[in-house]
Amino acid sequence: MQVSKDVLNYCAAIWAGFAILLLPVLLKYKAPYGRHISFAWGKTISNRFGWIVMEIVSPLVLVLCFFSGFNGSNLFALSLVAIWVIHYFHRSVIFPLYIRTTGKRIPIAVVGMAVFFNVINGSLNGLYLGHFQTEFPREWPGMCRLILGFALLIAGAYINIRSDYILIRLRKPGETLYKIPQGFLFRFVSCPNHLGEMIEWVGFAIMAWNLPALSFAVWTIANLMPRALHHHSWYKKHFPDYPKERKALFPFLI
Ligand code: NDP
Repeated sequence: MQVSKDVLNYCAAIWAGFAILLLPVLLKYKAPYGRHISFAWGKTISNRFGWIVMEIVSPLVLVLCFFSGFNGSNLFALSLVAIWVIHYFHRSVIFPLYIRTTGKRIPIAVVGMAVFFNVINGSLNGLYLGHFQTEFPREWPGMCRLILGFALLIAGAYINIRSDYILIRLRKPGETLYKIPQGFLFRFVSCPNHLGEMIEWVGFAIMAWNLPALSFAVWTIANLMPRALHHHSWYKKHFPDYPKERKALFPFLI
């Protein structure tokens, strides 16, 4: 398959620009799933099934696009593919099986938009990794980037997963109510799971050092920063005893 690096980079830049343009809309309108679900968004399906369907698309598309290229023996490209696949195996299989979401629904429209988002990100990143990713950097600036990016990726994944599982365990099996999360980084912010995910993909972009990875980090921030702000307002509205000093996303700041 013939792919132009310039065209791929233009597409990634336009895609990232679109995220930035959409940010005011995402800040104004809450993504209608989880606690912000709105049945005005039409037909719904089981929340657990929705998570599996919308997230499994990303690693499948990434791997398919990757193997359309000639980088099957490029160890660095393969390592980045492995990171993506491990993250999304957790997100599309393990996370949906663990969530305590009995009876909860998700609009098909939300699942459809997430599938579209995952197809674009999976294909841009898969094509770049498969066709153009160079081998492990051997010079100092590249090696420093790799170490910094990997450290952020691991720290972000740890924060994300640990926080998600604290939230999930707030409910007993069969419960659907919300409680005030405590401990770990919840002492400082309402949504450390979203903060961790943002750090993780910024780390990945620094490691990969290419435009498609950067565009995915930009989209992750554009999705999760508004969601964290909306969650924070929701907590303050629903829990009069919500800790006053707790911020939404960045400790002591926002
Ligand atoms: P939330 O924090 O809204 O929810 C995570 C899970 O914990 C859900 O099952 C939720 O239930 C439950 N939960 C949350 N808060 C409470 C509470 N106070 N009491 C009881 N249960 C609670 O996360 P999201 O749904 O926004 O995202 C899930 C994961 O997906 C996160 O790790 C996020 O980073 C990632 N993600 C990544 C995106 C990207 O662009 N890369 C985009 C969106 C999500 P319920 O669903 O019933 O609210």
